[in-house]
Amino acid sequence: MGTGASLNAGERAASFARLEAETFDLVIIGGGITGAGIARDAALRGLSVALLEAQDYASGTSSRSSKMIHGGLRYLAQGDVALVRESASERQVLRRIAPHLARITPFVIPTTSLATQAKLRAALWSFEKMGAVPAAEQHEVWNLDELARREPHLRRDRLNGAVAYPEFLTDDARLTLANVRSAAAAGAAVLNHALVESLIEEGGCAVGLIARSTLVGEEKAARVRARVIVNAAGPWVDGVRALAAGDGDRRLAISKGIHIVLPRGVLPVASTLILRAPDKRNIFAVPRGDFTYLGTTDQFQAGVDYWPDIGRADVDYLLNATQAAMDVPAIRDQDIVSLWAGIRPLIGEAGKKAAEVSRKDEMWVGPSGVIAIAGGKLSAYRAMASRIVDAVVARLGRRTPTCLTADLPLPGGERVLDGDDRLDRLYGTEAAVIRAAGGDVAAEARHAVLHEGAATLEDYWVRRSARAWFDTDAGRAALAPAAEAMGRLLAWDDRRRATEIHHCLQLDRNSRRALSPDPGGE
Ligand SMILES: Cc1cc2nc3c(=O)[nH]c(=O)nc-3n(C[C@H](O)[C@H](O)[C@H](O)COP(=O)(O)OP(=O)(O)OC[C@H]3O[C@@H](n4cnc5c(N)ncnc54)[C@H](O)[C@@H]3O)c2cc1C
Repeated sequence: MGTGASLNAGERAASFARLEAETFDLVIIGGGITGAGIARDAALRGLSVALLEAQDYASGTSSRSSKMIHGGLRYLAQGDVALVRESASERQVLRRIAPHLARITPFVIPTTSLATQAKLRAALWSFEKMGAVPAAEQHEVWNLDELARREPHLRRDRLNGAVAYPEFLTDDARLTLANVRSAAAAGAAVLNHALVESLIEEGGCAVGLIARSTLVGEEKAARVRARVIVNAAGPWVDGVRALAAGDGDRRLAISKGIHIVLPRGVLPVASTLILRAPDKRNIFAVPRGDFTYLGTTDQFQAGVDYWPDIGRADVDYLLNATQAAMDVPAIRDQDIVSLWAGIRPLIGEAGKKAAEVSRKDEMWVGPSGVIAIAGGKLSAYRAMASRIVDAVVARLGRRTPTCLTADLPLPGGERVLDGDDRLDRLYGTEAAVIRAAGGDVAAEARHAVLHEGAATLEDYWVRRSARAWFDTDAGRAALAPAAEAMGRLLAWDDRRRATEIHHCLQLDRNSRRALSPDPGGE
C-alpha cells in the first residue's frame, strides 16, 4: 500500500502483544497531528516507537480545525519573523510530500479603502519576501469589477476591491492518519482506541505506562516499557501530566471554535472569503466540493470534551456575520448540512482573551521526565515534531540520521494527480485502490478497516471519509452500507451494527441541538 503501512483493525490483538513485548525508545501518548508527526519523524530516524491513542487517530482537535495550512501572514502582525519563515516553508514542504492534502485556494480579503489596500499589500510584500513565496503564488489586487466577476455574491456596497493571495487547505484527520501510517511503515507500533490510564514510575522516573482498550467488548491492556515518554495529548495534556506524581498544575487554557457546513448552492463562493464579524474578528467562508463551510469562533470554555456543545449564540454569530456580508437569500437552520466544534489547547496567559493568546508551541519536562508538548498549530506540525524528536534523541544519547520527513512522501502523496475529485483529495494516489474496489461507500469502509485502522463506524464516517460533515444530509445514508461492509470484516452481529449506526446518528443529532427543529425532519 505505497508509503503507508496497512493498519488492519482486525489485528489489534497482535498490536497489544507487540506493545507488551518490546521496550521502546519512545512512547507517544496521543494520536493527533502532534503525536502522529512525532511518531513518523522518530521512526524514520530509526528509533523504536509506539504511539497510543485513547479514541481514534485525530479524534480530538486534529479533526476539528478549520483545515487551513496557514502560510504565516498572521504572524507578521505579531512581528514573529521566525514563525513567518517556518510557516511559509512548511506549507511548501506539505505540498511536496502530500499534494492531495495541500490544495491551493485564493484567500480573498475585501477592502474598503485605498489605505487598507495599501496596508495589506505592504504586509503581503514583506510576507512574500520573508517566506520566499514563489512568484506564481504572490498576491493580486482585485478592483470592484474583478471582485464582482470572481465573487458575485459578496455585497460590494462598502467595498473598493479586494486583495487575494493563495493559502492551502487540507483534510486534518487524513493528514494525521497519513502520518500515523507512514510511522507504522517505518516500524512504529501504533494503536488507536488504547487509553493510557497510568504511568509506571521507578525511583521517580517514568519508565512505562499501562494502556487499556476503549473499544466495547475488547478486554485488552498492555504494560508498555519506554525509555522516553512524550505526552502529545493536545487539550488533554494537563490530564495526562496529572498521571505523573507531582505534575498536576493546570497550564492549558481551552478555547472552543465551531464551524457550520452549508450546501455550496446556499452560500456560493469560489474562493475562501475573509469576512468581518461585528466584533471586528475575521471569520471565513471556505469552498469544499459541493459545500461551503463557515468558521470559526474563539471562546474560552471550562473542561475538555471530544464533542463540545454547539450553542445558539455561536451559530448566530457566524450566520449573522455571513448574511451581512453576502447577497444571498436568508440562510435557515434547515439549510445547515452539519456542524462541528473543536477545542484549542492554548498555553494559558492570564488576562488575555482567547483570540489574543499566542498559538506557539511549548515543551515542558515533568518531574518524572515525561516530555509534554502543547499549543502549536496543525500547519507547522512537521517542524514542531522535528524539534521534539531532536530533544528525544538528545535525551537518549543516540546518533541518528537527521530529520527525513520533509522529503519522503506521505501515503497517497507519491505524485500529483491529474484528477481532483473527492476521492483524489481524500486518498491521493490510493484513490485508484478505492475505485478498483468499486469506488462506493462499501469500498471506502473496507479500506478503512483493512488499511486505515478504523474500528468503529464513527472512525469511518467522521475521520476516514469526512462524510459526517461533507456529504448530503451529513452522510446519514452512508451509515448502513458502511456498517454492513465493516461488520463483515469485524464480525459485528445485527445488534452491534445497529448500535454503531445509532451512535453516529446521536452524534449528528447532538450537534444540531441548538438549531430550530426541521419541519420536514424525523
Ligand atoms: C476551531 C479550531 C480551528 C483550528 N484551525 C486551525 C487551522 O485552520 N490551521 C491550523 O494549523 N490549526 C488550526 N487549529 C489548531 C489545530 O487544530 C491544533 O493545533 C492541532 O490539531 C492540535 O493537535 P494535537 O495533536 O496537539 O491535539 P489533538 O488532535 O487533540 O490530539 C490529542 C490526542 O490525544 C489523545 N489522548 C488524550 N488523552 C489520552 C490518553 N490518556 N491516552 C492516549 N491518548 C490520549 C486524544 O484522544 C487526542 O486524539 C484549530 C483548532 C481549533 C479548535
